[in-house]
Amino acid sequence: MTNSHYIAGRWVEGQSSDCISVNDPALGQPFAEFMAASVAQVDQAVAAARSALPAWKTTSASERAAYLRGFAEQLGQRREALITLQMRNNGKPRHEAEIDLDDAIATFGYYAELAEQLPAKNRDVPLAAPGFTARTRLEPVGVVGLIVPWNFPLVTSAWKLAPALAAGCTVVLKPSEVTPLIEQAYGQIADALGLPAGVLNIVNGKAETGAALSNHNGLDKLSFTGSNSVGSQVMRSASAQCRPVTLELGGKSAIVVFDDCDIDQAVEWIVAGISWNAGQMCSATSRLLVQDGIADALLPRLQAALENLRVGNPLTEEVDMGPLTSQAQWLKVASYFATAREEGLQCLAGGKALDRDGWFVSPTLYTDVPKHSRLWTEEIFGPVLCARRFASEEQAIAEANDSRFGLVATVCSADLDRAERVADALEVGHVWINSVQAVFVETSWGGTKGSGIGRELGPWGLSAYQSVKHVTRCLA
Ligand code: NAD
Repeated sequence: MTNSHYIAGRWVEGQSSDCISVNDPALGQPFAEFMAASVAQVDQAVAAARSALPAWKTTSASERAAYLRGFAEQLGQRREALITLQMRNNGKPRHEAEIDLDDAIATFGYYAELAEQLPAKNRDVPLAAPGFTARTRLEPVGVVGLIVPWNFPLVTSAWKLAPALAAGCTVVLKPSEVTPLIEQAYGQIADALGLPAGVLNIVNGKAETGAALSNHNGLDKLSFTGSNSVGSQVMRSASAQCRPVTLELGGKSAIVVFDDCDIDQAVEWIVAGISWNAGQMCSATSRLLVQDGIADALLPRLQAALENLRVGNPLTEEVDMGPLTSQAQWLKVASYFATAREEGLQCLAGGKALDRDGWFVSPTLYTDVPKHSRLWTEEIFGPVLCARRFASEEQAIAEANDSRFGLVATVCSADLDRAERVADALEVGHVWINSVQAVFVETSWGGTKGSGIGRELGPWGLSAYQSVKHVTRCLA
């Protein structure tokens, strides 16, 4: 594959001197490579989006909705290829790759519906003062840059593309260099649907390409999902140009288990919250807070459940968990295992890389982790669970909130009044009660504190790509 960038409705070869290798993490070997987009090609993509904007933003909302439904249908038609590619390039187990595809399809369908409702949102505003009328117009923000990571490539891009196109924005998408082939489907679908040239552009590349996009003065907004360190650079670029930015960043989320829980059920939720996508989730519930009364019974069962997870190559084995997606991530997780050994943490399960080819690690559990430990405070982005015990509801809330992040949390309790009370007290963007990682397109996604700025999904995800205009007329 050489024509890997979609600019102004055409597939083009990358003109940078930087080569992108696409790897199979289960083997630790590349299976494709191509040249990254050059800075000049990023310029061309932004220029294409700019020239497509006037026509695209004046298309009817129902026309845009039809395109979005087309994206949903066409994703479905590419089902097997997209599932296989996610398994091969991300290392996702089949059932997870299927869920990601279904999520992306649902996202395009949902924003098609919201697009159709847009004309009704442009309405008169009742005024208390006599002599004037006023009306609201929701307008597209304009040309937006979208920069995404590698852990849920189909989904994260759908969460940005669908509302941006629904709002009438034109876009330049920069996928992660770790998983650059998956989002090419969006360009192929744009081709198949006859989406006007320049409405959707895709430039692939590493940090240099991302920086060329986020620093570009031809954008009206930048929406970024990724790490806090890069998010902070993206925010600096936005601030230099006084331009709006949405940031979906990292997390170090808590799962709080009260002692009235069914232990087997709680173990299932805890394991899912740390092993799904091999723990490479911004929303991984990687800090387990377990109440004193249940801890001694729960921890051995949790240890057994983690040790029994089937870890392997999703393309050739029945697995519960695949490899980490990149060698860099594998090395990072291994460095936390080393830190845990240096800190003398008590390891109940895992704590090591698997002795086989590919970037595999064991599902890991550390217990009684001190609050000051780097493993308790930092986002690891792997299947590494740290546990602490608590006595009271107040203590659980205080410890859960004692983090610079604020993305999600899970509360497990048979006492639903308590669970709701704790949910209200947690300083995060999304709380699950007696469930884990259930994300619905109608609800919001995003965090408080260091986990970001803004919200995706739901009507909030659409608002992120809209500008509110009021027209006020004097009747005199
Ligand atoms: P990353 O920040 O390294 O990269 C994200 C994207 O930014 C990639 O496309 C990358 O090429 C690009 N990039 C790198 N340097 C850049 C620069 N200087 N300027 C502009 N763009 C640049 O993150 P990652 O390793 O790909 O993803 C993991 C991180 O993403 C984790 O911290 C995770 O928590 C976060 N994440 C957050 C959410 C959320 O919804 N809050 C969802 C998924 C992932």
